[in-house]
Amino acid sequence: MSSLKIENLSASIEGKVILENLNLDLPAGEVHAIMGPNGSGKSTLSKVLAGHPDYLVTEGSAKIDGTELLGLAPDEISRLGLFLAFQYPIEVPGVSIANFIRSALQARMPAGENVKAVDYYKKLYEKMDELGMDRKFTSRSLNAGFSGGEKKRCEILQMSMLDPRYCILDETDSGLDIDALREVSVGVNQMRCSERGILVITHYQRLLEYIVPDKVHVMWEGKIVLSGDKELAAELESKGYDWIRAEVAA
Ligand code: ADP
Ligand code: MG
Repeated sequence: MSSLKIENLSASIEGKVILENLNLDLPAGEVHAIMGPNGSGKSTLSKVLAGHPDYLVTEGSAKIDGTELLGLAPDEISRLGLFLAFQYPIEVPGVSIANFIRSALQARMPAGENVKAVDYYKKLYEKMDELGMDRKFTSRSLNAGFSGGEKKRCEILQMSMLDPRYCILDETDSGLDIDALREVSVGVNQMRCSERGILVITHYQRLLEYIVPDKVHVMWEGKIVLSGDKELAAELESKGYDWIRAEVAA
């Protein structure tokens, strides 16, 4: 079965162990959520999977449909079908959204083929309409001066244009007001399908009221310590994370 399968993953940065024997299996067709307190390693996990060069993988594997992605360069991982929406999208002055996404699509084309401008803009505008984005955004520099909501919508736009097999959304809810949260969630829900797995990372349960997950995993000190269904998210919301500390210690 198609899946993003992470086994025994350990990783460190500057000699500090952040991920320790982490296991997670995300089958295509499902939406899983990872919840956990700040500093538990959620962003580290997403960056390690995306091939961030600062992290040292010391053990384990992460496979997309059986193909190892650890050790590959970020662009190779992207072409294998993994997309990471950043917690803090960077601003790239001078590179327009339209050119940025077009370049990413072009990089996926076989040698000698080009993205056709007419088809590209048709699809881009359709997706922007779905996300409620103003078309004048296409000529603006990527994320430069964008509000929190605009940055996150732009991440979802990139994601839907690239059509990845597995998506990781790192705290897509951070910095969003309730209206932006709803719009971004609509965009993510439109991408749910039987061929795609989506991993939603969040600190708060609120996002999961809009993007209802098939499974919820709790991350604590670099490991998944508890997994359950969507009710687990509500339980965390009412009991807080200290309860997990007691569970882990027991
Ligand atoms: P989360 O996303 O769950 O809040 P992070 O993955 O951002 O957690 O961080 C996990 C731990 O790794 C924290 O203790 C953090 O200080 C540490 N960490 C993350 N990035 C670095 C870095 N570049 N250098 C040193 N420590 C880091
Ligand atoms: Mg984080």
